[in-house]
Amino acid sequence: MKAGHVTLVGAGPGDPELLTRRAIRALRQASVVLADDLVADGVLRYVRKGARIVRCGKRGGTVSTQQGFINAMLIAEAARGERVVRLKGGDPFVFGRGGEEVSALRAAGIACTVVPGVTAGIAAPAQLGIPVTDRRWAQGVMFVTGHTQPGAPGPDWRQLALAARGGITLVVYMGMARCAEIAAALLTGGLRGDTPAAVIENGCTPEQQAHVTDLGALADDVQRLGLGAPAVVVIGHVVRATQAPCTEAGENADASEPRAQVLGCG
Ligand code: SAH
Repeated sequence: MKAGHVTLVGAGPGDPELLTRRAIRALRQASVVLADDLVADGVLRYVRKGARIVRCGKRGGTVSTQQGFINAMLIAEAARGERVVRLKGGDPFVFGRGGEEVSALRAAGIACTVVPGVTAGIAAPAQLGIPVTDRRWAQGVMFVTGHTQPGAPGPDWRQLALAARGGITLVVYMGMARCAEIAAALLTGGLRGDTPAAVIENGCTPEQQAHVTDLGALADDVQRLGLGAPAVVVIGHVVRATQAPCTEAGENADASEPRAQVLGCG
């Protein structure tokens, strides 16, 4: 039996121009590509003709039932000698279950390499001009999931409120379904209602929708504007950067780039 190989590849947040060169090379060399639902079609155009593309459903709620199946498929394809690419949105190791897949492959004795990707929690805010750290406002950043498995302990929002008060930016992935709960927990934890916040839906894609607000108004705004997944929520004073003058980026912007719809605070 020929030994196959699996490459876990980060597809970035949506725009194919945010793929790394290593990701493109891996896609061109693959004979089988297992792609997450969130991966944009434009990324798949780098897969060579004749290679098989398998779409894997990974949307909220169905993840745990399917992960074992995906692991088994990766192992089976590699064991058949295929050059397998496991293509995941953003970075494979940021809320991507990439770690679990690598563990399953190692346990099965399958060789595996990882190609990092541009994660949505950095790229989507950046598209709006929001740096996740900025020495004027934030000395660090925490990436947090708003979605946890039923029965599993979620993030401690009181502790996170404390961290945010101390100058740590919070970037919440998968938080839209529980946005009101999360905002309320942070407020209860002592984070001020006028702490700036931004929601970026479909960041770095032509469908990008962005809204700048504050923590106190976040949940109402999300509901009123109908914002939903996939989106990241950024909470912290770095969001103020959207108000700062940024002429250089404007001058250099490519007309084909998605335009962020930035609404003012308050
Ligand atoms: N591995 C991915 C995250 C997967 S979890 C990464 O590194 O980006 C899925 C969550 O990522 C979504 O619920 C959303 O919170 C976020 N996300 C993925 N793509 C996004 C995009 N284009 N814009 C905004 N958020 C996105």
